[in-house]
Amino acid sequence: MNIDYSLPCRSSNYRAGNNGRDFIVIHYTGNDNSTAWQNAHYFATSKVEASAHYFIDNDSIYASVPEDDTAWAVGVKYGNAPYWGSCKNSNSISIELCTFGGEIQGPTIDKAAELVRHLMSKYGIPIDHVVRHYDVCAKCCPAPWVGGAREDLWTLFKLYVLGVSGEGAPTPIVNPTPAAQAIQVVANFAIACGQQCANQFVGHDFIAADGIIGPATRRMAIRVLQHALNLDYNAGLVEDGICGTKTKAAIGQHYVRRGERQYMVTFVEILALLHGKDPHGVEYPGTYGSGLASAYNTDYIDRNGFLFVLGLLGCEV
Ligand SMILES: [Zn+2]
Repeated sequence: MNIDYSLPCRSSNYRAGNNGRDFIVIHYTGNDNSTAWQNAHYFATSKVEASAHYFIDNDSIYASVPEDDTAWAVGVKYGNAPYWGSCKNSNSISIELCTFGGEIQGPTIDKAAELVRHLMSKYGIPIDHVVRHYDVCAKCCPAPWVGGAREDLWTLFKLYVLGVSGEGAPTPIVNPTPAAQAIQVVANFAIACGQQCANQFVGHDFIAADGIIGPATRRMAIRVLQHALNLDYNAGLVEDGICGTKTKAAIGQHYVRRGERQYMVTFVEILALLHGKDPHGVEYPGTYGSGLASAYNTDYIDRNGFLFVLGLLGCEV
């Protein structure tokens, strides 16, 4: 990856230092048919009291604000947005994408995905902390990836960032309708998120976040259960991904129900994602809220339920 450092941002347009590198925020320049060089040059030479870390077009990536410093990019609230308050200028890295003919074009998307992957691995940022300016401030940015069918383009970008590799091959729908295509994409994205959350939760024997359920993911689902049983009940299980007599004994007559906060809820949240459902977030430990209740259409999951959700995934239980 080539990054051009020849046009650093004018220092009056940003603040030195940071408060963590927890989010990556994607923007568009809002200045159609202008290049990364033109935008970087503008922020290098003009006093605008706004800034970003990177500008990308079809040919190049320009570094503007140094990664360790705070760009002024997401500090203004335009409406209610899910990441307002958690994603801030001081804990995020902002990337501006150039548009041509009103669209973010393929070569720009390639470069952006490569840079995002690099930053995710460098700072340990999970995919659900790769967000749009829109998700933080309700500003229509990046406009080509906000609203209606354009939401799918944003989902596709994140899938592309995750990369499709690893176990098994995707099962394409033959001649899908656009709606079926969108559902497939969203389901695969949920599964990929579930895989990444499972990695984060268990912390070993990482699996590919490829959106495909195969043997490694099934085994990981059981590891998630074993890890939750160890955390909630000091079960002392070997986290080997095999649901044997010890694991079943540890489940005992335990259950989770709405309002409870437990790692067993985290397990069920991750399983919901692996089923392509949206539990409205995964927490460590998890709180059994309305998102999870609607994903499984129940306020209560017991021993049979735990084994049932694993069985649905094709795990041997
Ligand atoms: Zn923006």
